[in-house]
Amino acid sequence: MTSLTAVRDRELNVLESAQRVVESALRQLGYGPEYVELLKEPLRMLTVRFPVRMDDGSVRVFTGYRAQHNDAVGPTKGGVRFHPDVTAEEIQALSLWMTIKCGIHGLPYGGGKGGVVCDPRTMSAAELERLSRAYVRAISQIVGPTKDVPAPDVFTNAQIMAWMLDEYSHLREFDSPSFITGKPRAIGGSAGRETATARGVALCVEEAARRRGLSLAGARVIVQGFGNAGSYLAQFMHEAGARVVGISDAYGALYHPDGLPVPELLAARDSFGTVTTRYSNTITNAELLEQPCDILVPAAIENQITADNAHRIQASIVVEAANGPTTLEATRILTQRGVLLVPDVLANSGGVTVSYFEWVQNNQGLYWPEEEVAEKLRSTMLSSFDKVYRMAEEHGVDMRLAAYMVGMERTAEAMHYRGWL
Ligand code: GLU
Repeated sequence: MTSLTAVRDRELNVLESAQRVVESALRQLGYGPEYVELLKEPLRMLTVRFPVRMDDGSVRVFTGYRAQHNDAVGPTKGGVRFHPDVTAEEIQALSLWMTIKCGIHGLPYGGGKGGVVCDPRTMSAAELERLSRAYVRAISQIVGPTKDVPAPDVFTNAQIMAWMLDEYSHLREFDSPSFITGKPRAIGGSAGRETATARGVALCVEEAARRRGLSLAGARVIVQGFGNAGSYLAQFMHEAGARVVGISDAYGALYHPDGLPVPELLAARDSFGTVTTRYSNTITNAELLEQPCDILVPAAIENQITADNAHRIQASIVVEAANGPTTLEATRILTQRGVLLVPDVLANSGGVTVSYFEWVQNNQGLYWPEEEVAEKLRSTMLSSFDKVYRMAEEHGVDMRLAAYMVGMERTAEAMHYRGWL
């Protein structure tokens, strides 16, 4: 039987859910309704349509977006996703989350996000290059190293960042490596950016386990999703001595209580993180989430843990590597059940943190060794984890609301000092 709560839960889309938490966070912090009004949607949202020549000679018209949530603190910052399910609302919600991520760590940015409705899994490299360049041309008026700085996200990678940078440099007629982050190192990328999101998640897993008195050695971990975040995270958990008992991709999941052969799975995955299609004894993604484990890391897509399955989650720690994998009602249920939930805006913010380091290195023309990047990431993540944890305890709120409170405060203050509100 479906409860009324479950029905209500499903009806909230990602943007509405984010807006609700923003409203509660600003109210808790004592800011008035005008702050909520301005922060609930991006300041700017550009929709573009552009033609791309396909390999067979035909022309397809694609739709893309770039949202700039808030630039009171500094230029906007955030990834570009290439995915068939991209919508305007999703990009707006993702840009809002970027404001919070940057705010949590005190990075000198507001949030931005972009996306193109397309399926790179069905496109050739040449088509993807033409699409990437066309997207940059379409949004070029509103982006730039001191305006809005893109980066990788779902189904975009360092090669795509390189094409985008090249296109931008041609348009602006100067070399501008800090226009975009997540680049290959040969053209100004930072050491450690490729694995930064997963490293940040791993640090949150370690810290959550420490606070719960759980030893990571031998702990059972399920990772849903095997893309950039999920696959490197499985590797780091395996290296830390945890038992990775479950993993999944878009097509199915693998679970074994004794642990999975992580190195073998990593070697077998394709560039989109697909690996389960090589195995016959798979279960579904939904089934995977409910399998026995100590730590669950949703690293795939939105709305995976809902009011329908939150009661059946067996993990005592949930760390969100994906953006928006847990609905608000599910957050309430998990928190009430005593599960320690580390929210996306904190857990997956290692990516944007090292993007910031990349931008700083580009601006100063001085590059740091990998150990320095790793150490700076570690201290940033751990001190922010502590801030959010303390905020939750002091105000008696869940970790998600606490993260929004920490993340929103600086933007609200910046808008006030600028005289906007
Ligand atoms: N796309 C990543 C995110 O959602 C990284 C953004 C960035 O590096 O700017 O946080």
